[in-house]
Amino acid sequence: MFNLVLFGPPGSGKGTQSARIVERYQLKHISTGDIFRKEMDAKTALGLKAKSYVEKGNLVPDELVVDLVMNFLDQHGDERGFIFDGFPRTIRQAEILRTELFERGQTIKLMIDLKVPEAELLERMRKRGKKSGRADDQDEDILQNRLKIYRDSTEPVISFYTKHHKHYEIDGVGTVDEVFNRISSVIEQFI
Ligand code: AMP
Repeated sequence: MFNLVLFGPPGSGKGTQSARIVERYQLKHISTGDIFRKEMDAKTALGLKAKSYVEKGNLVPDELVVDLVMNFLDQHGDERGFIFDGFPRTIRQAEILRTELFERGQTIKLMIDLKVPEAELLERMRKRGKKSGRADDQDEDILQNRLKIYRDSTEPVISFYTKHHKHYEIDGVGTVDEVFNRISSVIEQFI
């Protein structure tokens, strides 16, 4: 199996690029953010638990996220591989993912880290908020909080993958095609 972590701050293009990667390499996409939004819309027990965190732009507790991801992996065991989009977002999540994959005889092959300057991230999220109506993209305080949480809790995940020699930094500025071409040239060294 070919498992890939697509990493980057909010607004760096993980969702857009995941769709392209899925199309070309037939991997199974898992976006924890998309799952939380769906569960919240459907008002499930998980959605209700996640709501107060997602709405403020805070991280959902690790246990909830990890359970959700592991259930997803167990339901899709026959895939060619997974793209993890928006997960792991803490060192703890990265450690658990590593252990759980190991127990399933698997590993993360590479972590692609999309680099985009903060001013552009903010601009992209504001635009997305207007277009999609996504509430956490429309409030300036929440946007700033998400970037702060990224810097404080999520960015350290880079060092986890650097230590395991899996971290690849990609310039996330440019057209969707330009960024995708950069990503594919890394994937093709490994797949
Ligand atoms: P995203 O669509 O990836 O930006 O995620 C939207 C929101 O879902 C985040 O701001 C968090 O509240 C929550 N979320 C998504 N993925 C995670 C994760 N791996 N750990 C904790 N919270 C998450």
